[in-house]
Amino acid sequence: MKVGVVNETYPGELRVALVPDIVGQLAKKGFDVVIEAGAGVSAGYADAAYEAKGATVVPSRKEVFDAADIIAQVRSAGANPDGCQADFDLMREGQIIVGAAEPLSRPDLVAKMAEKKVSAFGLELIPRTTRAQAMDILSSMATVSGYRAVLWAADKLPKFFPMFMTAAGTVAPAKVFIMGAGVAGLQAIATAKRLGAVVSAYDIRPAVKEEIMSLGAKFVEMDLESGAGEGGYAKEMDEEFYRKQRELMTTVIADSDVVITTAAVPGKKAPILVTEEMVKGMAPGSVIIDLAAERGGNCELTKAGETVEVHGVTIAGPENVPATLAFHASQMYAKNIYNFLCNMLSKDRERKNEFDLEQEDDILAGTWMTKGGEVVHDVVKEALGNAAGGQA
Ligand code: NAD
Repeated sequence: MKVGVVNETYPGELRVALVPDIVGQLAKKGFDVVIEAGAGVSAGYADAAYEAKGATVVPSRKEVFDAADIIAQVRSAGANPDGCQADFDLMREGQIIVGAAEPLSRPDLVAKMAEKKVSAFGLELIPRTTRAQAMDILSSMATVSGYRAVLWAADKLPKFFPMFMTAAGTVAPAKVFIMGAGVAGLQAIATAKRLGAVVSAYDIRPAVKEEIMSLGAKFVEMDLESGAGEGGYAKEMDEEFYRKQRELMTTVIADSDVVITTAAVPGKKAPILVTEEMVKGMAPGSVIIDLAAERGGNCELTKAGETVEVHGVTIAGPENVPATLAFHASQMYAKNIYNFLCNMLSKDRERKNEFDLEQEDDILAGTWMTKGGEVVHDVVKEALGNAAGGQA
């Protein structure tokens, strides 16, 4: 099977779907790689590095689509809503498309891929199981975001993170509060601790308390019911719950130098957890990094894609954070893709390394969106139905 990699065309996207080392690893599993010239440059990977690992570099996107059985992308369909149109024209029947696709927010673009009769896989749909962890792009990219958020906060805060005892006096450590301790939040806790801050955190899922504490942070106890939903995710709560949560968090937030918010409910708009009143209560110079900005934001003053200063508080609503660490984000993404492609090989010992999409496999079934001209994923079909209902 030939895997094709093209330049990412989403504005500001610097990552690439495969890195040279993974090209070498794929070759051992029987996959060849064809890559568009310059596709890895913005992430720090030169064409020559791909060639050295056995990839064929071709000058145009069209040549990649023409040659490849599988197209691996960072952003396909809804994850690149304007740019994907050009790719639809290059796709051919039976081709396999693998990448993030934002299928629940743009199911219409999944339907477009179905019209092209490709087999499209949406990597956001990977089940949250132990076996799937090595292919989970949401986890690997959230790790990048959690780390980066803390560095941004440290950069913007006019204070040290660690405690210092110097001849010029003692400096108290920064107080960092992390709201939402999923993958990004836990990485933010670990990074802020490494920088010497005093870290506390809260999550609506009580099971996370132990993980927070094992990283050396304090779990902020709140008299609230559990918001644990299915599959390790949070469930959506009613407005009364969020009102009470905001009330209980007001003093913690007022007392924090840095607040990093990551709270999300899958498929829903992010809950508003920090109001303007709460921002007013923070000391001037404090910093909020809202990692939920792309999903509407956890702070009501967040402007997605911007950093604003309101009531003396810096509020950043960064978008596409993983692209800011494109080298390692691409390396991690590529490893996820590698594991995902290897999972398409037969698990039957006698047919080792034979490509087999028809095998029974929960990860293939869970991510397979289009097949033979149809949208075949139940959740995507439901999203399509809802979108159609909304338009009617
Ligand atoms: P996410 O990005 O959907 O949400 C981030 C966090 O926000 C979650 O921890 C959620 O509980 C929290 N949250 C939601 N509403 C909140 C509120 N009102 N106040 C405070 N916090 C709130 O979540 P995620 O990072 O993708 O991870 C969710 C869970 O899935 C974690 O337990 C993670 O360990 C688990 N997970 C499992 C696998 C796997 O097994 N393969 C992979 C990735 C994540």
